[in-house]
Amino acid sequence: MKAYETVIGLEVHVELATKSKIFCGCTTQFGGDPNTHVCPVCSGMPGTLPVLNKQVVEFAMAAGLALNCSITQKCKFDRKNYFYPDLPKAYQISQLYLPICRDGGIEIETEAGKKTVRIHEIHMEEDAGKLVHDPWEDCTLVDYNRCGVPLIEIVSEPDMRSAEEVIAYLEKLRLILQYLGVSDCKMQEGSLRADINLSVREVGVPEFGTRTEMKNMNSFKAIGRAIEGERKRQIELLEDGGKVIQETRRWDDNKDTSFAMRSKEDAQDYRYFPEPDLPPIEISDEWLQAVRAHQPELRDEKMLRYEKEFGIPEYDALIITGSKQLADLFEKTVALCQKPKEVSNWLMVETMRLLKEQEMDPEEITFTPAQLAGLIKLVDGNKINRTVAKEVFEKVFKENVDPEAYVEKHGLGLVSDDGVLRSAIRQVIENNPQSVRDYMGGKSRAMGFLVGQAMKEMKGKADPGMVNQIVKEMLDAM
Ligand SMILES: [Zn+2]
Repeated sequence: MKAYETVIGLEVHVELATKSKIFCGCTTQFGGDPNTHVCPVCSGMPGTLPVLNKQVVEFAMAAGLALNCSITQKCKFDRKNYFYPDLPKAYQISQLYLPICRDGGIEIETEAGKKTVRIHEIHMEEDAGKLVHDPWEDCTLVDYNRCGVPLIEIVSEPDMRSAEEVIAYLEKLRLILQYLGVSDCKMQEGSLRADINLSVREVGVPEFGTRTEMKNMNSFKAIGRAIEGERKRQIELLEDGGKVIQETRRWDDNKDTSFAMRSKEDAQDYRYFPEPDLPPIEISDEWLQAVRAHQPELRDEKMLRYEKEFGIPEYDALIITGSKQLADLFEKTVALCQKPKEVSNWLMVETMRLLKEQEMDPEEITFTPAQLAGLIKLVDGNKINRTVAKEVFEKVFKENVDPEAYVEKHGLGLVSDDGVLRSAIRQVIENNPQSVRDYMGGKSRAMGFLVGQAMKEMKGKADPGMVNQIVKEMLDAM
């Protein structure tokens, strides 16, 4: 068999985190009863007019700047005509001729080293509704809540060569967009979805092969499998003397194979023309400068700051800044308890352990900075020991309990009442005369046994330092 190279380019659709839709005032909130987040504009009633949401333009600019693009200061919208039941207007307002951002790129890192994936363009557009197939009634229902939710589409150049590179690119993209606050990028809710354009060619051949497109992939695992599956399918086809057809395919992750959906359209199939209902957008130098000045701190800066300002190890800073959720949690908890190393330890050890055990992403963490800070204060103030703290943390992580209330309710606090400790220890000394004699006879190890017995008597909830001190004091007084 000949040696083949895989060539992959991505079109990534990202739902922007604006409160209202791109051309009307309806909410962009995910979910809701079907067709309750709609109005005449986003449900495509004739005679209505779109009004552009300024925040969409600012988010698109912020994304473009962070992805090293140049901003098209005179840009405009175009009308993309096609009929599909989830798009009641029968056209989508998008950008073809003058997209808002062009010619960017980001650096990715894989085991093979660093490389730059170029970004061809970013354009703004509106999302379509959702078709819901109901197998019981054997019918298809349509929900227009998502219609008009703002999207940016980030189009890469065909610079990726493996699933590993694609995942690295998507992860980096997701993190940048999350730090910018332009999208939550929740793949399970479809706010980040990727279309994969893939072709293969013999190694050394300069021309690209014919590509296929797999649409709307929204899980990293499925993307990895889809790339592998499609690559194999195309190579086998070519090896058998066949030809790859330019088409859109649907990856069925359960069947581990893809199916042809339709022949892939080209731009001319959509009869694009300048959107007549919206004026062109003029981005002034001042506006662009203001957006640039408000760009938040991204990962690399954050990492350096964590090491310098909080003195946490480089590796910990790398892991914590690898998720916006973790970084936010870290910073907010530190602000509450002023113990950066303790906070970092709880995130790096117990949080990571539980995330792995529960097969969760950091995005799914539900405990609050106040809960973690509360727990750290309990340990710090010697109110609970570390073993109990781990147990309480697990409850905080899984059930969102308030650590102080939980410790109180279950009597987990350390007993530091001198009287209680003394009476328990006196009992232990009385019950173990042989150990006392051993200690008197010079066997200092016998004291350790008595301390152990006393801790057991206190069910581990005594401060070991205090117990040690009292045992010694009592033995020496005998
Ligand atoms: Zn609306």
